Amino acid sequence: MSLARKTLLALSTNAWLRDHATKTAFVRRSVSAFMPGERLEDAMDAAASQQRKGIGTIFTRLGENVTRVEEADEVARHYLDVFDRVQPAGLRAQISVKPTQLGLDLDKELCFNHLRALVECAERRDNFVWIDMESSPYVDPTIDLFRRARALSPRVGIALQAYLYRTVKDIEDLLPLGSAIRLVKGAYLEPADVAFPQKADVDDNFFKLACRLLSDDAQKAGGLLHIATHDPVLAGRLGAHIDERRVPTTAYEYAMLYGIQRPLQERLVRAGRPLRVLIAYGEYWFPWYMRRLAERPANVWFVVKNVFAR
Ligand SMILES: Cc1cc2nc3c(=O)[nH]c(=O)nc-3n(C[C@H](O)[C@H](O)[C@H](O)COP(=O)(O)OP(=O)(O)OC[C@H]3O[C@@H](n4cnc5c(N)ncnc54)[C@H](O)[C@@H]3O)c2cc1C
Repeated sequence: MSLARKTLLALSTNAWLRDHATKTAFVRRSVSAFMPGERLEDAMDAAASQQRKGIGTIFTRLGENVTRVEEADEVARHYLDVFDRVQPAGLRAQISVKPTQLGLDLDKELCFNHLRALVECAERRDNFVWIDMESSPYVDPTIDLFRRARALSPRVGIALQAYLYRTVKDIEDLLPLGSAIRLVKGAYLEPADVAFPQKADVDDNFFKLACRLLSDDAQKAGGLLHIATHDPVLAGRLGAHIDERRVPTTAYEYAMLYGIQRPLQERLVRAGRPLRVLIAYGEYWFPWYMRRLAERPANVWFVVKNVFAR
């Protein structure tokens, strides 16, 4: 992992920097490259516009590691309201939540009850809940939450990270459940004893795991794979694999983040690939934004250029 990436990821958890940077006009301007606005309405407008181009949406309100029960309750209420607003607006938009945003650090049962309420609402509203994966200490409790929610409804999926050594086994365990799995490379600072330190190994593992999740057994079990990457090489290799194996479009979707690799998004849509783009909104964007910078330290130069642009 590069020094720039390590430094940005370490800074992403710095409370002092968060409080100061988020008040700075140029940082606020730079974050707009990755999110259309802080309000749900901004995200809904962006979703309507990408839907006209044939792109589905996943909404996520930024926030993590809430420290009070009332905050977790409010997050759950917010997402229930999102489901209520998405359906009449005719938006093809799912939601994605972080367990620590639903209170996992406070009380696992509280978190599960919120998740259950969201999944039940997704059932009623013909919608879907994705569970984000956070840093490695949260993997076991997050998989446990997913298993319990999946036992109630198929309208829930989980993100798994290709940089973790353990993910190959987690996939084998979850595959027979007919799970919806969002495969990502992984966005957190992890030690070398839990995650591949070299990017090439992560990329390789991503390809192997994605092929497993597109295999005949995974399809027979009723699985769905979200290929969540902006990596054009991986996207292309997996596209070739999908065509060669004649994997139906019901078994996979590509997934990307708003504002990243738009040309690749357009190419996928033109090629008839199903695509969803995750739109983030909300006020608590600092750690999330720093993880986006860390994914491509060249983005830091955008920020720096912005400082001198005014
Ligand atoms: C839909 C979705 C959901 C996600 N959910 C989770 C999650 O739950 N848990 C988790 O740990 N991670 C999550 N991630 C983040 C993921 O783990 C990676 O950190 C992120 O996607 C960058 O890796 P990459 O696969 O795009 O490939 P990379 O190899 O990092 O990037 C490939 C290319 O994409 C472009 N690119 C990538 N990132 C950026 C960026 N920030 N700005 C500009 N260009 C960029 C660059 O051109 C780069 O060369 C999610 C990602 C997506 C797309």
